[in-house]
Amino acid sequence: MPKSTGAREAKRRQIWDWIHAAVASNTDECADWPFGGRVREYGRITYQGTKRLTTHVVLELSGRPRPAAPDNRALHSCDRPSCCNPRHLRWGSMSSNCTDRDGQGHGRVPNQRGDVHSQAKLTEVAVRSIRERVAAGESQRVLAAEYGVRPSAISRAVTGARWGHVV
Ligand SMILES: [Zn+2]
Repeated sequence: MPKSTGAREAKRRQIWDWIHAAVASNTDECADWPFGGRVREYGRITYQGTKRLTTHVVLELSGRPRPAAPDNRALHSCDRPSCCNPRHLRWGSMSSNCTDRDGQGHGRVPNQRGDVHSQAKLTEVAVRSIRERVAAGESQRVLAAEYGVRPSAISRAVTGARWGHVV
């Protein structure tokens, strides 16, 4: 049985109240989308007649219009796709979005000033993969850019000057 218009309208108002609160919030805590979906899932809402990602709407409502592709993805500094805290959101490209989401992003997600390098860290999994790819002939400079670390960090990982215990 379809929900009554009244119930739908109440739900819609509840959702928009939540969104406006998220946009206006001034905490650094994550604001996880509570209206359905799993933690690692984006919320979706109808905004100006179009089905939109909640994160996109939050960014726009916080005064940051969506840029042209490829920088038109909503990226999370907190690595939680369901989070709608505008302080954790920024526009960026798909490749940096993958960086955010591949689970190795902790500690090396670019902050709002785009400062990738200061917090850059490699994981053991990343080090193994880097060594294989360098051995297969890939450029250390390209890998450094992909992992968001300095080329010297890649070189140390490859030579074993760092990560000597990872085999
Ligand atoms: Zn967050």
